[in-house]
Amino acid sequence: MKKVVVAIDGPAAAGKSTIAKKVALIKGYTYIDTGAMYRAFTWYCLQKNVDCQDEKACVALIPEVKIELKPNNIVLCNNIDVTTAIRQTDVSGNVSYIASYKDIRLALVDLQRAMAKNTSVVMDGRDIGTNVIKDAELKIRLRVSADVRVTLASAIT
Ligand code: C5P
Repeated sequence: MKKVVVAIDGPAAAGKSTIAKKVALIKGYTYIDTGAMYRAFTWYCLQKNVDCQDEKACVALIPEVKIELKPNNIVLCNNIDVTTAIRQTDVSGNVSYIASYKDIRLALVDLQRAMAKNTSVVMDGRDIGTNVIKDAELKIRLRVSADVRVTLASAIT
């Protein structure tokens, strides 16, 4: 069977993950939540008491951070289950700093590409179709208003 990459990009709260998870389930593809990876890195910096606004200190942690996405949307950081912790406000409030650091982006994009190398995936984020997997078989750019999102989510669940 042909390997397929579906890239779903869009702003926060556009409903990307709802749609990505559903498409992955229907097609039997692996869902890759790239936002969760930036969140896991942020979680690790906070665990280490590293200031997320200190780019040099955060980048220095790259070699010691191992992020894995497991079935059922479980996120592991250095073998610790951080699935719930990465949704907490301290992580949400700092993740944009981490996502703005070039070296961290390069490391996580490498990981994302490796994950999509041999498996069909649905990957959501902000830069998937434009940067991570430019030759994705299907690129979707979501721009939906809140009311449409509610209707869409209930229509596909
Ligand atoms: O999608 P989610 O809100 O979980 O993503 C967390 C943050 O990670 C985003 O607000 C954004 O700053 C960053 N991000 C990114 N590139 C991606 C995915 C997420 O910069 N591909």
